[in-house]
Amino acid sequence: MTFWHTVVHSRTALLCIVLSLLSSHVMGNPLQAPIVPEPGVSLPLAQERAANIRDLRYDLFFDLPEDASAPIPARMELSFALKKTVLLVLDFKAPETHLGRVIANGRDVPAVFQNGHILIPGRYLRKGQNKVDIAFTAGDMSLNRNEDYLYTLLVPDRASTTFPCFDQPDIKARYQLRLSLPAAWEASANGALQQVEVLGTRKTYTFRETLPFSTYLFAFAAGRFGKRTQAREGREMTMYFRETDQAKVDRNADAIFDLHAEAIRWLEDYTNIPFPFDKLDFVLLPGFQYGGMEHVGNIFYREPALFLDESATDNQKLARARLIAHETAHMWFGDLVTMRWFNDVWLKEVFANFMAAKAVNPAFPEIHHDLSFMLGHQPVAYSEDRSGGSHPIQQELENLKDAGSLYGGIIYQKAPVVMRQLEALIGADTFRQGIRQYLKQYSYKNATWDDLIGIFDELSSTDVRTWSQVWVKESGMPVLRAERTSESHLRIVQEKKSKSGAYWAQATSVALFYPDGVHLIPCRVEGALTELPLPAREGLPLAVLCNGAAMSYGYFKLDDASRAYFLKNAGTLADPLLRGAAWMALYEELMYGHIPPRAFWSSVLAALPAEKEPLNRQNLLGYLVTLYWRYLSSEERQMTGQEAEALLWELLQKAESTSAKAAYFSAYASLASTPQAIERLYAIWEGKVSLPGLPLSEAQKIGLAGELALRLPAQAEQILSMQVERTKNPDRLKRLAFVRPALSPSQMERDSFFQSLKQPANRAVEPWVVEALEYLNHPLRAGTSEAYILPSLELLEEIQRTGDIFFPRQFISAVLGGHRSPEAASTVRHFLDTHPTFPYRLRNKTLMAADLLFRVGDPGR
Ligand SMILES: [Zn+2]
Repeated sequence: MTFWHTVVHSRTALLCIVLSLLSSHVMGNPLQAPIVPEPGVSLPLAQERAANIRDLRYDLFFDLPEDASAPIPARMELSFALKKTVLLVLDFKAPETHLGRVIANGRDVPAVFQNGHILIPGRYLRKGQNKVDIAFTAGDMSLNRNEDYLYTLLVPDRASTTFPCFDQPDIKARYQLRLSLPAAWEASANGALQQVEVLGTRKTYTFRETLPFSTYLFAFAAGRFGKRTQAREGREMTMYFRETDQAKVDRNADAIFDLHAEAIRWLEDYTNIPFPFDKLDFVLLPGFQYGGMEHVGNIFYREPALFLDESATDNQKLARARLIAHETAHMWFGDLVTMRWFNDVWLKEVFANFMAAKAVNPAFPEIHHDLSFMLGHQPVAYSEDRSGGSHPIQQELENLKDAGSLYGGIIYQKAPVVMRQLEALIGADTFRQGIRQYLKQYSYKNATWDDLIGIFDELSSTDVRTWSQVWVKESGMPVLRAERTSESHLRIVQEKKSKSGAYWAQATSVALFYPDGVHLIPCRVEGALTELPLPAREGLPLAVLCNGAAMSYGYFKLDDASRAYFLKNAGTLADPLLRGAAWMALYEELMYGHIPPRAFWSSVLAALPAEKEPLNRQNLLGYLVTLYWRYLSSEERQMTGQEAEALLWELLQKAESTSAKAAYFSAYASLASTPQAIERLYAIWEGKVSLPGLPLSEAQKIGLAGELALRLPAQAEQILSMQVERTKNPDRLKRLAFVRPALSPSQMERDSFFQSLKQPANRAVEPWVVEALEYLNHPLRAGTSEAYILPSLELLEEIQRTGDIFFPRQFISAVLGGHRSPEAASTVRHFLDTHPTFPYRLRNKTLMAADLLFRVGDPGR
């Protein structure tokens, strides 16, 4: 290895000389003007590089200081083969001063640094093998530096903010990493730890060279971490964490290792490919931006998603299992076989979700999986697909710098439903055969959706390409209704065509409700009209439900009789899946204004006591909270709040399981409005009253303190001060200190806190910002926080540039989530109307976040 000490100096002086060199020699064709690549990675640049570069290796060294604000000297050796010696464009999105000496094949290169690219003239390169050495200072943007730990988060195109690279998914590379770090720190990377050298207060970790993978999957975390290693079926895995509550770690550790091992076993079996990388470790980070990120061999998780409280609900346990299975599935789907370009990013996400749903089933025999799939996907997918921001599953992407804005519910929630439809269309065996072939054929390489569709098309007699066009390449959802055509027949009517003029084909199950039971007709809906025979029996059905299968997708309209029937009887249906489907259909009717909110509210309250299925119960409680804060006016809340509180408290007392108690309590705490309920919450928070069978963790106590501070402004400061005193975990203490001004009774303090968020540095820990925005914009504060809407919208483009990929949507959702007034709705409308050049994906995100606000505050439009 050829390394040297980092030399950082400005390269501006070299710029003009080299530009002239570029124009005369570098571009091959002297008649062609030199092209300085635009910022980011454009599709043409990516295609050109992918065609030219082979056998890429990064040999990286980072010198990590203890001080979180000190620069990180780094260097790397890049080796690769070239087909043609043209201008080489590396991506490095850091200040120019971060770039040091560049040596190509032993010669100093007067490299040009422009638009976030390092340009190496072709004459320093040769056909075949090349070696480039670069000294640099790592850019801080994606290093998430905290007081005593840091971690990278480089998806989708941010590897280049940390080190110079070819930052695109289809130039896979092997990575060797060395980290110098304080002796008391731990570190985890993609490769297995190969060697440790300790020298005084410092040590150097050398990690084994990895198998090939894309830059967005490169990762390391370093700092003070707790560490546990366990073996499952001969595989050693290490978990790194920040949690200081050892009892909490002990309570969760075994389950976390088990869930990873079960996911691996399941995936190996389904894909017929052994775990494709050398090792698997995971790092739990308290303020992690996502639930998890599937770095090769080195998954990062948001710590609270894996370390559950004692009172965790079944849903939370299932969500944890799903999350672990999701990230583990990515080792095959995304890491082993990777999309060629980020327009297909949905594909790795759909497979991870789809496989996760399949894989967690064996671990949760007590859970109704079809119901869980349905409630976990359709509601979120509908909330985006019915909004003005709906888009196709597969989106266009001109430049990788915009890849972050592709993600959302259409990818995460709609696509798995669509994939399940595909499986039903071609059959589960053919589907699995196709998946196996795809993974094998493209192992350690890249593939597109069309490559996969090509495989399915060959294996199956069905026209998979047409199906893919409507469901994957076009936006929107089908609208369907049932109508009776005769005494003996019923038909399903598709009310609209897709943009290309086709109808959505799908499998569903039509449920007919009779006084003495339910009759199910499994069927395929294709074309405008699908005729179905009614069963030969006396009388006509009292109600019809067309979305009676877990994979049904669309707006399934209810006729008047069915709507009335389900408002009265949804809670009494014997089949939990049909109950869930009926509630979902009713909720859509509420969204489209066909059911008055008060009627829906009363139905939910009436159904709640008898609902024992945890997933349906959680769903109903979610409806209550949404209706209460978003649909009901403050006068209506005063009229109805007491009844709901009393019911929830009674159910909480009677509930047998901890998870049922926790679910009722959480809804109770978020609805609490009467003096009696607030007093009760206060006594529980103080510890004067305890809830038998429901121990509250430190995190839950902090949440309770927040709810109390909102409701008891006069005591807010005292409550929060006391909570600060009682909080032992240092990370939670920091979080509390951060969100505290958002809970202040003083509007001036809240305003100035909101102002402070305009500084990118104050938005660094995104989950904290989201929580603070939710407090700032809580419905109880809606009057004074409406003023935050416009500046938030104005900030959104900058947030997209400076924040992580989910942040713009989370930011605007947190702001709009507390509002219901026509004025709030019109602020958003007016902003979008007067900003025609607002980036269209951000516009989509805003329209999605505003969907409920528009429906409640602005139903006329
Ligand atoms: Zn994922």
